Amino acid sequence: MNAPLQGHTVSKPNAAAQALLSVDNVSLEYRTPQRVVRATHQVSFEIDPADRFVLLGPSGCGKSTLLKAVAGFIQPVEGEIRLQGQRVDAPGPDRIVVFQEFDQLPPWKTVKQNVMFPLLASKTLKRKEAEERALHYLDKVGLAAFADVYPHTLSGGMKARVAIARALAMQPKILLMDEPFAALDALTRRKMQEELLLLWEEVRFTLLFVTHSIEEALVVGNRILLLSPHPGRVRAEVHSHQYNLHSLGGVAFQESARRIHRLLFDETPEAERELDFSDIRIAY
Ligand code: ADP
Ligand code: MG
Repeated sequence: MNAPLQGHTVSKPNAAAQALLSVDNVSLEYRTPQRVVRATHQVSFEIDPADRFVLLGPSGCGKSTLLKAVAGFIQPVEGEIRLQGQRVDAPGPDRIVVFQEFDQLPPWKTVKQNVMFPLLASKTLKRKEAEERALHYLDKVGLAAFADVYPHTLSGGMKARVAIARALAMQPKILLMDEPFAALDALTRRKMQEELLLLWEEVRFTLLFVTHSIEEALVVGNRILLLSPHPGRVRAEVHSHQYNLHSLGGVAFQESARRIHRLLFDETPEAERELDFSDIRIAY
């Protein structure tokens, strides 16, 4: 069970309001003919509008599986996922996923056609409006001048921006990102984190972001859910709204990173219980 032991106070400032997304005691499994693999065990969290909510944990702890369940590709074997109170049981245009591989952009379509494609395929908009919407979001990610080029002419960072523009153009209720910058070099990755935050400042979308990097979680997120190694269980939730790229290397940032590392990997987190972290909810 994930029982909150301490300091749940800041986790939900307005408890009366309905969460945008509720993940309620969710266990996820893969069944192969040989065996059943439990990917997550009784995971619960809630995301409020305009949260930048991060799932953080070591490789194999079930982050991608959780994201796929929120997207509606996988059904829980236990528990329930609700979007604005409605049970999630299938994929839908209100939840758009950006994956790590940017070569998900069909190479025979121009950048603009790539961004327009989901809008047309889902019959969200007619061609004219889809084109306007695509250009609007390409402008937001700084790629207006590249609307008519083909993806193979773009750098990795630019492809990432196209993928983000394409997702945001659908105006989903929640944007789901699975290690979206992991394949980029370190400098481009940092730049993309910065651009994502600037974009969030402007558009205020709701984000569920998966990473295994503590540093990236602190920079990108306002709330971070720490998951234990396989099968993923909730270890703790940490508030990190005070950090951005300018905090990197600072004393408070480093201390938070160390603390998260301890929470993630310590087998005996008793020591943490004695300390007063008002910004942490710990679950065991
Ligand atoms: P993460 O994204 O945190 O690295 P995943 O969600 O990809 O973790 O995987 C969680 C667990 O589920 C891992 O043990 C992984 O091996 C297993 N798993 C993932 N996908 C499948 C699959 N298609 N079939 C069987 N097991 C899987
Ligand atoms: Mg993964």
